[in-house]
Amino acid sequence: EPHTNSQAGPRSEYLYKEALQHIVGGVNSPSRSFKAVGGGAPIFMKRGQGAYFWDEDGKKYIDYLAAYGPIILGHAHPHVTAAICRAAENGTLFGAPTELEITFAQMLKAAIPSLDKVRFVNSGTEAVMTTIRVARAFTGRSKIIKFAGCYHGHSDLVLVAAGSGPSTLGIPDSAGVPPSIASEVITVPYNDIEALKEALDRWGDEIAAVMIEPIVGNFGMVMPIPGYLEQLCAATRSNGSLVIYDEVITAFRFHYGSAQTFDGLQAASLSAIEPDLTALGKIIGGGLPIGAYGGRKEIMEQVAPLGPAYQAGTMAGNPASISAGIACLEALQEPGLYDRLNALAASLEAGLAQAARKHGIALTINRIRGSLSTHFCDHPVSNYDEAQDTDGEQFARFFRLMLEQGICLAPSKYEAWFMTAAHTETDITATIAAAEHAFAVMAAN
Ligand code: PMP
Repeated sequence: EPHTNSQAGPRSEYLYKEALQHIVGGVNSPSRSFKAVGGGAPIFMKRGQGAYFWDEDGKKYIDYLAAYGPIILGHAHPHVTAAICRAAENGTLFGAPTELEITFAQMLKAAIPSLDKVRFVNSGTEAVMTTIRVARAFTGRSKIIKFAGCYHGHSDLVLVAAGSGPSTLGIPDSAGVPPSIASEVITVPYNDIEALKEALDRWGDEIAAVMIEPIVGNFGMVMPIPGYLEQLCAATRSNGSLVIYDEVITAFRFHYGSAQTFDGLQAASLSAIEPDLTALGKIIGGGLPIGAYGGRKEIMEQVAPLGPAYQAGTMAGNPASISAGIACLEALQEPGLYDRLNALAASLEAGLAQAARKHGIALTINRIRGSLSTHFCDHPVSNYDEAQDTDGEQFARFFRLMLEQGICLAPSKYEAWFMTAAHTETDITATIAAAEHAFAVMAAN
């Protein structure tokens, strides 16, 4: 693959060549490839500690990728590591229930009251996929409404994009998703309550559920406009459909709880924005594979062995993932932790904004507590159209200039920067200095 400005050292270059021989595309998830930022070898990582990781060539990076979200405590957090080791020593899988699963379910329920009952699975994809099945079983309806630009994992139904127009039947976003499946999905723009109401009116009693990231993490960090979730829940319920929140990114991201319990939403009342079902993943696994879904008791009782909706898993609720999850949530209860993440991200936001202004770079920053997204544009970003209408080439240059200086972002203009409990103001200062240099270079040519 020809490229001129690779940041990969010789060892990453070599490993990428080797990987291409054996692993499709050289990566086990397409988001890890550098395709969206000009191609070439991705950086192969060797180890991580706290806010840093080191690549195969020995270069150190400040990590804002946080593994796409789960690593909120930083790499190899001692409390989580100890829990994983203990679990490994005691046997990693039994195919029988353990007390750990009850403990963890109780912790999740205490933090997210809409979860009467939960089920553990192995990924966010599985969690979302199953909420849809359960919603269909409960309502006896088959269509779902989703929002343009929201990502919900790679199960067939949610790999569907909008056609054109305000509310559209979906078109497959991936080869291998048949049109018959895409026709079960309606896509509407986020933050547009009229478009949702139109779709609910038009497809009425065919709609099993409305699936949404209550706070968006997949086309940058985007807040719902005030009143949006209240109206969404009311309109969906009066249509006899279920509200499903995909909180795979947002749960335990902004505070010890989830978006549906986040006072930053300024919801009139939490019950007005409470979903029927919630999908979880990422942070709740403390860096090991996990997903979970849960919600109202009578809906969850559709699931086997109590009900007719089938869902199972050999690895589901495995002691290693559950132990890591418990340890992660325990550590997240440290007083002041989320305020620290917030303060770090606020410093970073201010520094990036100032550096961009200084060099005449148009930059919109969306920050929600300890996470932010950077959009190279001169307009706000509150929906997918606006997130798309940003300068991808400029982002690619910025990404590479930052990587060169040892600052690791996600290789996509749509992904967030995540603070971890291990980042310090010193890291933020170094990151702002690197950004200032990057903007200077970008402004000069
Ligand atoms: N939902 C959301 C909101 C996500 O961001 C993701 C992953 N980025 C998923 C679901 C899928 O999770 P997983 O990759 O664990 O399958």
